[in-house]
Amino acid sequence: GTSLYPNDGHSVEDLLKHADTAMYSVKSNGRNGLQHFHEDMARQSKHLLDLESRLGRAIENNELEVYYQPKVNVTDQSITGLEALLRWKNPDLGNVSPAQFIPVAEEIGLIENLELWVLEQVCKQLNTWQKNAIEPIPIAVNVSPVRLRYRDLANQVITVLNHFQISPQYLQLEITESAFIEDIETVAEQLQQIRDTGVSISLDDFGTGYSSLSYLPKLPLDELKIDASFIRKIPDCGISDKIIKAIIAMAQSLEIDVVVEGVETELQLRYVRNLGCNIIQGYLTGKPAPALVIEPLLQSSEKKATASA
Ligand code: C2E
Ligand code: MG
Ligand code: MG
Repeated sequence: GTSLYPNDGHSVEDLLKHADTAMYSVKSNGRNGLQHFHEDMARQSKHLLDLESRLGRAIENNELEVYYQPKVNVTDQSITGLEALLRWKNPDLGNVSPAQFIPVAEEIGLIENLELWVLEQVCKQLNTWQKNAIEPIPIAVNVSPVRLRYRDLANQVITVLNHFQISPQYLQLEITESAFIEDIETVAEQLQQIRDTGVSISLDDFGTGYSSLSYLPKLPLDELKIDASFIRKIPDCGISDKIIKAIIAMAQSLEIDVVVEGVETELQLRYVRNLGCNIIQGYLTGKPAPALVIEPLLQSSEKKATASA
């Protein structure tokens, strides 16, 4: 975020405040950019303040819900896992996308509360399915890079799992590459502690971040999710094709499972299957939905898996 004297302010305080506002705008638009301050931002910044204060009350006002999206093995259509995705519906703002509110939550220090809430909901749901004799299935929870900086994550996860009597094999944490650019050693240690508890680790949005492959063998990973941006380019194959092939080969040699994100069409599905990838998470095989919608899918997936076994 930048601001310049004299157009954007006459005092150091004003210039800093406006540069900060500009930086905020970059963060809420998906980060990784540069933005110069302009007057409209003062208005947007008011909107942001409004968003912040509403987000702060979202949990107590019951405005949040966890949706679940299946990861499907397309060879037998069985569901291999679910990803928990947070949804926020505010009475005045309507549905707010996580791409919009997660960066805000990270910025104002609310992410820890939100993620703990998601973790509790997920474990509660697993517990309900267990009680209803529905074979529980691993559920992945997204962990913000901000949250990963605190060292107590493994303890927190264990406490919640124990509280809801859930075996750690049913929980997976999804992290992104940006989590470890600053200090890979600390993050690797933290992830190892988590993995030692039996919870598995997935690397989300792979290929969009810092693309230094040398870090991969240093991290205790069980799964790697190829980002939807590669799939979106299909059928304009070319370079994405080669990159996906290389990622799959590399993951196989490191004994890491591969999931392809964002598959929307049959054409894309055929294409990724030809590359040797059979686990898909995308609108084609199932959109994110509330637990009640997912439940019957789990039951029929159980039958399919039994039939094919
Ligand atoms: P993500 O973790 O990469 O999640 C996948 C996103 O892709 C989800 O968006 C999902 O709805 C969307 N998606 C799945 N299949 C398709 C498809 O075929 N086509 C298209 N166009 N989209 C597809 P969503 O739910 O809007 O979440 C966006 C991001 O917000 C997530 O990306 C994740 O980074 C973040 N997020 C969501 N819930 C949480 C949470 O509880 N904690 C944290 N830290 N981040 C979260
Ligand atoms: Mg994810
Ligand atoms: Mg992703």
